Amino acid sequence: MAIKNIIFDMDGVLHRGKTLIPGAPEALAELRGKGFGMFFLTNNGEHTREYFVGRLEDFGITAHVNEMYPSSYGTARYISENFPAKSVFVFSSGMQDELEGAGIKIELSNKAEIVVASLDVQLTYGKLVAAFQAIIRGAVFLASNDDSSYPVENGVLKPGAGAITAALEKSTGRTPIIIGKPQPYMLDIIIREHNLKKDETLMVGDRLETDILMAKQEGLKSAFVLSGVSRREEIKTTGLEPDYVMDSIAQLPDILE
Ligand SMILES: [Mg+2]
Repeated sequence: MAIKNIIFDMDGVLHRGKTLIPGAPEALAELRGKGFGMFFLTNNGEHTREYFVGRLEDFGITAHVNEMYPSSYGTARYISENFPAKSVFVFSSGMQDELEGAGIKIELSNKAEIVVASLDVQLTYGKLVAAFQAIIRGAVFLASNDDSSYPVENGVLKPGAGAITAALEKSTGRTPIIIGKPQPYMLDIIIREHNLKKDETLMVGDRLETDILMAKQEGLKSAFVLSGVSRREEIKTTGLEPDYVMDSIAQLPDILE
């Protein structure tokens, strides 16, 4: 089955932190010119959809808000569909903006009825205390994603949302509902909203245990780029064999010829 749609992970695929992956804008422009449906699916829940569109624009990559699926948006959809009346504790201001934009009530105290764990570079002990207390009082526990780390410049990694989630899991003894990859919830939203067929869709990612695992579990084609977190040797150790492996996104147009 020919590939008609491409879902891109962003961090480690199109850029590493503030550094563009060379050739990414040209490759995406070429693929868009050839008529591929393009979507962007990131576990990053720190910012709004509009923010991520703007960030790609700064890198010279065109994306539209209705193609952009950060876990902040997925979290807003999940809460709207399942708990529309509940108040929510959030960590980052970008997540707060996305939820408020969806009409969700924010409660930044231990009285919140839902806690959303997500990446927060302004994490404080006070926020952990409020989230912890809300959860042990019975709040619904959600996590935007469970990534242990994420790539920034020069091969450096930083602790991801999973590290914040783990602090709450450890302290409360509760396990969160995870919105992001490898869980299929956000992929299902893309498929529903844009009427995609899974066997005509390619997932491009740099993490075997999220991007590639989700693609394989859900029947998508997968392309693994070596410009981010996972290394080639890990294909063997994880047993997660992608359909395509490439050094960089710049090679994707040739591979899809
Ligand atoms: Mg990535």
